[in-house]
Amino acid sequence: MRRVYLDHSATTPIRPEVLEAMLPYLRERYGNPSSLHHWGQEAKKAVEQAREAVAALISARPEEIVFTSGGTEADNLAVIGAAYANAAKGRHIITSSIEHHAVLDSMQYLERQGFKVTFLPVTAEGLVQVDEVGAAITPETILISIMHANNEVGTVQPVALIGQLAKEKGIILHSDAVQSAGKIPVDVDELGVDLLTLSAHKIYGPKGVGALYVRKGTRLDPIFHGGAQERKRRPGTENTPGIVGFGRAAALAKQEMATEARRLAALRDRLLDGLIKRIPDLVITGHREKRLPNHASVCVKYVEGESLLLSLDLQGVAASSGSACTSGSLEPSHVLLAMGLPHEVAQGSLRLTLGRENKEADVDYVLEILPPIVERLRAMSPLRC
Ligand code: PLP
Repeated sequence: MRRVYLDHSATTPIRPEVLEAMLPYLRERYGNPSSLHHWGQEAKKAVEQAREAVAALISARPEEIVFTSGGTEADNLAVIGAAYANAAKGRHIITSSIEHHAVLDSMQYLERQGFKVTFLPVTAEGLVQVDEVGAAITPETILISIMHANNEVGTVQPVALIGQLAKEKGIILHSDAVQSAGKIPVDVDELGVDLLTLSAHKIYGPKGVGALYVRKGTRLDPIFHGGAQERKRRPGTENTPGIVGFGRAAALAKQEMATEARRLAALRDRLLDGLIKRIPDLVITGHREKRLPNHASVCVKYVEGESLLLSLDLQGVAASSGSACTSGSLEPSHVLLAMGLPHEVAQGSLRLTLGRENKEADVDYVLEILPPIVERLRAMSPLRC
């Protein structure tokens, strides 16, 4: 059967070059980077080289990169670590209602600890409005956390403008760039962020490794305790093979980003235009221009997203409905609801995210098989009026 993977926002395959770079650190170069002997120093050198490559991807300094176990941990460290370290200044935080659960759930945890959190609404296209961020700021505000690109609808947020505002007021700005880094330019100074989250497995690196960028001088408490690794910000023996893979993936992404983004955007537009032409009653979700180059997301009216996924899977196409973490439940996505889509429309959500190995023929295959699937599902749908 023909197989087409169109779920790159959920995860990406490891690139062969990344795997090659990792293998020695799973085999003979097994030293603990904290050890003083040859093995340890060899591992430490590899971790530091990877730190340079990850820093270069976002125009940061290597010493501002803290390796973590992934995007989720980096989001927790950013939000909870900044809140605790700055609680003496104030206990108010601003975020958006379309953040990844790693941020949203950390915010809810902080609410239970007595912090006050403002969850900003978004426009119908999934954009946070800068003036609403401004209006939400109080003398008590210590942290703003707004994601760079949304994982479900691909909308890219005006983080640089929010950065100017945060800087004027002396408020720490965090941005979750898990979906954007390596796909579109991310420059920590241009964005004006103090904290920024990254994850390796979205850019053809291994799962279980990520990083938090921490601007020099940003007050941040660790959330783990137990060692001096990562300048005491993230104790625990480093995942050397994972970090090495992350470094290689970041270097490759930086090198290829401009050409790959152009290629993917053309494929994405072919897919979106083709879907609009072939499927009636289809709503594009997210902003049409301010969106990730590889990201196509729609709601197909009168069908369930889950049924679409299963039918596509039977014909070899991997897609998702909402985010991978929430799929499996029939609750419509919090992102689509925040964008004002009615429940019954949000339930028909479909996310198709392109990647390095996709070609025009893959897009055309989806455009060929999806319309008859939709027609068949609609014919038996109780949602159709
Ligand atoms: N933030 C966003 C926007 C994501 O899309 C994801 C993963 O889906 C994460 C955070 C979590 O990253 P990780 O899977 O590395 O924990």
